[in-house]
Amino acid sequence: MQMLQLKHLFKSYHVGDTVTHALDDVSISFRDKEFVTILGPSGSGKTTMLNVIGGLDRYDKGDLIINGKSTKNFKETDWDAYRNNSVGFIFQNYNLISHLSIIANVELGMTLSGVSSKERHEKAIKALTEVGLKDHMHKQPNQLSGGQMQRVAIARAIANDPDILLCDEPTGALDTETSVQIMELIKELSKNRLVIMVTHNPDLAKKYATRIVNFQDGKILNDSNPFKTEAEKDTFNLKRTKMSYWNAIKLSFTNIMTKKARTILTAFASSIGIISIAVVLSLSNGFQKQIDTTMSKALAKYPVAITPTATDMTSMQTRKESDKNVKNRGYVIAKQDESEEATHNNKITQAYVDYVKKINPNYANNIAYQRTTNLNLLGLTNGKAEKVQFSTADPDSNQSIAQMRSQAMSSMGIGSSVFPTTLDKDKGNFLKQNYQILSGAWPTKATDLVVVADNKNTVNINALKNLGFDVKKNSKIDFNKLIGKKFSVVSNNDYYQELPTGMFVPKKATNSMYNSGKKIKIVGVIRPKNEDSMQLLSSGIAYSDKLSQDIIDQNKNSTIVKAQRKTKRNVMTGQNMNATEKKQMMQTIGGSSIPTGIMIYPNNFDSKDKVLDYLDKWNKGKAKKNQIVYTDMSSAVTTMTGGLLNGITTVLVAFAAISLITSMIMIGILTYTSVLERTKEIGVLKALGARKRDITRVFDAETFILGIFAGVLGVGIGYLLTFPINSVIYKLTDLANVAQLNPTHALILIIISTILTLLGGHIPARMAAKKDAVIALRSE
Ligand code: ADP
Ligand code: MG
Repeated sequence: MQMLQLKHLFKSYHVGDTVTHALDDVSISFRDKEFVTILGPSGSGKTTMLNVIGGLDRYDKGDLIINGKSTKNFKETDWDAYRNNSVGFIFQNYNLISHLSIIANVELGMTLSGVSSKERHEKAIKALTEVGLKDHMHKQPNQLSGGQMQRVAIARAIANDPDILLCDEPTGALDTETSVQIMELIKELSKNRLVIMVTHNPDLAKKYATRIVNFQDGKILNDSNPFKTEAEKDTFNLKRTKMSYWNAIKLSFTNIMTKKARTILTAFASSIGIISIAVVLSLSNGFQKQIDTTMSKALAKYPVAITPTATDMTSMQTRKESDKNVKNRGYVIAKQDESEEATHNNKITQAYVDYVKKINPNYANNIAYQRTTNLNLLGLTNGKAEKVQFSTADPDSNQSIAQMRSQAMSSMGIGSSVFPTTLDKDKGNFLKQNYQILSGAWPTKATDLVVVADNKNTVNINALKNLGFDVKKNSKIDFNKLIGKKFSVVSNNDYYQELPTGMFVPKKATNSMYNSGKKIKIVGVIRPKNEDSMQLLSSGIAYSDKLSQDIIDQNKNSTIVKAQRKTKRNVMTGQNMNATEKKQMMQTIGGSSIPTGIMIYPNNFDSKDKVLDYLDKWNKGKAKKNQIVYTDMSSAVTTMTGGLLNGITTVLVAFAAISLITSMIMIGILTYTSVLERTKEIGVLKALGARKRDITRVFDAETFILGIFAGVLGVGIGYLLTFPINSVIYKLTDLANVAQLNPTHALILIIISTILTLLGGHIPARMAAKKDAVIALRSE
């Protein structure tokens, strides 16, 4: 059966104006088993013919018939498969891949065609045994002599058991003795395959070959044993080659390992972008966490306040109106002040109070109610009863109690001397959570009072004076003077006296009046728990809402309340009142249990939103005037700082990203250098049947490894940097562990690094794949 047939083949090279006819109408047929040598002067076209036969190079004209099949319509992949399955190449300069071990070099062709590693290994060992190098298989190419290297090349060529062995001056670089050994080996191999060998040693040719072809100027001069063509029958059948990604990665990995220092330096340089982004992210991450915890600590305790009047932000919109023709209108418009227009009067009803009371204690466990209800208080000074009050207003100024109270109330909630009611006792107590005891005990009963000091243990002087203490500026008061101090809350009926005119006036304080009242007592002195925690209660006396409620219960049917209920006229001053004024009056004398203000204390920062949702639900579907507008002071602060940090982070990350682009370009350059360096390897891979895609894959794999390495290195260094950064920040600000690398960010950065380096290296990888195998192999 006939193997190979060349029919009128032409191949010429055009360089400038000169045309070289490397193959000039070559027609020859080969038997499937013979040892053919091709003799001829240098430049006569021998190598060109061998490359064309082996499918490394393309002919211009004519036809090459393989196993009866014309190759005129061969596609690139057909040639690849042909080289990989049927052809083995042996070159003068061995063309071993220096970074692969002997055995790996021999396995390479099979690696490309996706042969399993076990089978590959077995075949490679068999081939190495055949060439007599079994004992050297784990050596590197540079540890072998020239003859040994050529044997390895032969082993690589025959490992896949090809039908055709093409040898281009295999003994050209060897001494006579070694040349003879190699010739013996090739002679042995020609027993069961076609061997075509180019040589310029006629003696060796005559001694070993079964057929000698003389070549000159691209033409066959004579043929010692021509082969007559028989009828052609197409028996061509080839398996497609395919290299797996994994093999590409392994191949590139061994290559990378041969230039460790360079790889590490490159990876480090390209990881700088990743490092800077990692540091920026971990800092911003940490600062955000820091801000969040500080904020939630500081701001969670800010109550959501429902005050008699609130500013409705939604109505604070300025309407734009065309200024045109305004001056010609001939009238002016009465305009309400914008802030006044935005002022919303909250009509707190019993239904609303009940609604607020039903708030989930998991979100807000403490609610404080503000009431303007007068406590008709008496104290004993030196055994004599006198009127006192729980107030921080200056007792010497000439204001009515009601006036003072409403002033204190309207100055934005915080500063109520009524401590919040705890909804669920198991979930902690407001006082204990935010205050510490300086002396005495926590209040347990409605009749227990506490003195509230601030962070510096000071108490408002007016509050003390109003309680009947004779104090001067900066005088020191012993705890035991405060604790145990009793007051009497007198009922309206005992406190007020109805005049014949139907008007009511407070009676003079007497000891019997004192004795008739309900006794309340200071049980402790407290101050805020932390130095930096906010003062939630105003300095002075604090008491429970239960006390107010009890007093309202006691007084709601008192004579003065009953009388006031019936008339629009103020029963104390005689003035006529509007509806609001009457309501206020009723609240003052204990005729109404509806509080003037409510403070809801969210349990933590997150549950505040839930509280707001709950309050918003009340307003849904209600007319504007019946809605209750709350004030959330903490929200403005948080959104502001959060936005600021996000802005800074974005800018910094953008800057850091520039260095990522730099690394990408660097990887591109590195891959390009690698391509130039590995030109020969690309040629060898092609000679062994590698597809363009396989070559791309090998280089992509290399950049892939580099990318992951750079990413991991960058993230690792970034992580390590957080330690010194944190210690510096700690020294400067006392904030511990600010920089924290989020694991998700770390992973994303590694992925980004890998993708970017892949992109950067892909173009050079494509260039490598396009390299002409023949030129690649001729380069040296
Ligand atoms: P041999 O192997 O017999 O020494 P070659 O086949 O290498 O000869 O070369 C045949 C002719 O083709 C020579 O004249 C050579 O200069 C020319 N040639 C080979 N490759 C190229 C090329 N890539 N470009 C231009 N000329 C080439
Ligand atoms: Mg040559």
